[in-house]
Amino acid sequence: MKKLFSVLLFASLALAAIPASAHEKLKVVASFSILGDMVRHVTGELAEVTTIVGPDADAHVYAPSTSDARAVADADVVFVNAMGFETWSQALIESSGTKAKIFVATEGVTKVKVDGEVDPHAWNSLPNGMIYVANIAKFMAESDPDHAADYMANAEKYTKRLQALHDRAVSDLAKLPSDKKTVVTAHDAFGYLENAYGLTFLAPVGIDTEAEPSAKEMAALIDQLKEAGAGALFVENITSPALIEQISRETGIKIGGRLFSDALSERGGPATSYEAMFEHNLNTIIQALSQQS
Ligand SMILES: [Zn+2]
Repeated sequence: MKKLFSVLLFASLALAAIPASAHEKLKVVASFSILGDMVRHVTGELAEVTTIVGPDADAHVYAPSTSDARAVADADVVFVNAMGFETWSQALIESSGTKAKIFVATEGVTKVKVDGEVDPHAWNSLPNGMIYVANIAKFMAESDPDHAADYMANAEKYTKRLQALHDRAVSDLAKLPSDKKTVVTAHDAFGYLENAYGLTFLAPVGIDTEAEPSAKEMAALIDQLKEAGAGALFVENITSPALIEQISRETGIKIGGRLFSDALSERGGPATSYEAMFEHNLNTIIQALSQQS
């Protein structure tokens, strides 16, 4: 009995000796994988970051689980994209009863509309990505003022890399002939990339993956492509390739690869971070468009 007591005493002393900082790590939840990666770059080891919608998963049509509700309930800080992307997040946050601070990472982004609806895929241009990073740093500093300088320094370092990648994207895409800049993806996820880098993206499905094109809409797109052509077709990691395969069969336009639109890849894939994802998409597009005859 005495021995057990001393073991317990030792255990509790050992517990008390853990530095306070380990207990004080902020719990941060990000709504989807791309945003979660940006948040991790800003927080480094200072926070415990979890994401709700994981790699290769579609946030447009996600159904939150009870463990998601628990993660949100336990969180100190929650980051969302908003702009109509994670339409389920509001209900999840409310029903969880969380006391977390809720931040919108897209604050200050210039919104683009497609067919009258706000396009939520703002991260697909790097200047916007840099706005996300600045917001994340600002909101983390506000939530955890003791580490404000660390968040700002991490964000600054990260932003420099994103800026360098942006400069490369601008100069590489400028080398493509102007008549070779039209591509087709499964859903309208690249409006911001189109605007920032001078490409044209067409898609059989709009900004939300929930909608399916009618036979008439598909026929109209296929006619348009037969007439005007397109440099390449791309399948996406989060949507079925069926529509793109059909367009390829009916137009003879080749499928130029797979783009990561709304989620990162699983570990071991080509897009495990926001930077890697952008770079993979850029290289895939350039390679496909350079191979046109
Ligand atoms: Zn999308």
